Amino acid sequence: MTRTRFKQRPGIQVAVIFTMSLIWSTTKYNREAPIIDGYFFEKNQQKGSKRYWRCRECNVTAITVDQSLYKVNGEHDHLPNPAEKMQRKFKRKIKETISSQPTLSSKEVSK
Ligand SMILES: [Zn+2]
Repeated sequence: MTRTRFKQRPGIQVAVIFTMSLIWSTTKYNREAPIIDGYFFEKNQQKGSKRYWRCRECNVTAITVDQSLYKVNGEHDHLPNPAEKMQRKFKRKIKETISSQPTLSSKEVSK
């Protein structure tokens, strides 16, 4: 399952194409819980082989069939925990590049 995300920032458009990653973790109660793209989900309900999950922090829902990802509904209104720091670092790097080389076009900065 792939998704394309566009992020609009002043002067810079960043397109991120990525494959959604699914990692199975175990809760402290020894139940399975999927981590999708770094977002933690908890069980909502089960219908046959389909399991319905809900993001721990927002209203995004996901469906898994057996052990694979079937569908994700909605967009998170927050950042996944592990990626948050990375993204901040990346933003700072862009800022530094722009301020040290103000004549660069946005295309060159994103290199
Ligand atoms: Zn969420």
